[in-house]
Amino acid sequence: MRLVLLGAPGSGKGTQATRLREHLQVPHISTGELLRAAVAAGTPLGLKAKAVMEAGSLVSDDIVLGMLEERLTAGDTGNGFVLDGYPRNLAQANALDALLTRLGQPVDIAVQLDVDTELLVSRLAGRAQAEGRVDDSPETVRNRQKVYNEATAPVVDFYRNSGRLACVDGVGSVDEVFRRILATLAPTPDIG
Ligand code: ADP
Repeated sequence: MRLVLLGAPGSGKGTQATRLREHLQVPHISTGELLRAAVAAGTPLGLKAKAVMEAGSLVSDDIVLGMLEERLTAGDTGNGFVLDGYPRNLAQANALDALLTRLGQPVDIAVQLDVDTELLVSRLAGRAQAEGRVDDSPETVRNRQKVYNEATAPVVDFYRNSGRLACVDGVGSVDEVFRRILATLAPTPDIG
């Protein structure tokens, strides 16, 4: 199963991606985590990405695509993957389709976690206290939500228009939301 998880910052993508990784036995690929690892390691890519991430803006498409291609060709995605944090704009969505077509591994489904903006902001405020991620400060959170609404929301339509979108209500306990996601993945029984 090759699955893309979509949702605003704070929608619970990372948490659900971890559950899905265990359930589906496929790698969880988070571009945010790959970038944070590059920043922590002080690689040239990480040095370029650091300030952009701290401002809550998008790292350039070519940097993230190169990093993602390297990860998708690491040899462990034969049974699929859960992709979290990518694509974040239409250019990335098109680039991902082109890359995965070339690799013979097209996306099966994009699952969108739907959560009201007010709730997103309060969840991220809680996470800022618990985890201390530098991009969870109030100003950066506002910019990340703005970037999501302007650049990433059209990606939902991209998958809807190609018949690959499943929308899931992201409000509820982690277990409840996970069950809803699994329900959208269950094969529809043949009729007749
Ligand atoms: P969240 O979804 O909560 O914003 P992420 O861990 O997915 O958290 O991303 C953190 C930051 O990493 C983003 O605000 C952005 O700066 C950068 N980033 C992650 N994925 C991408 C991407 N696909 N394209 C550009 N920048 C990205």
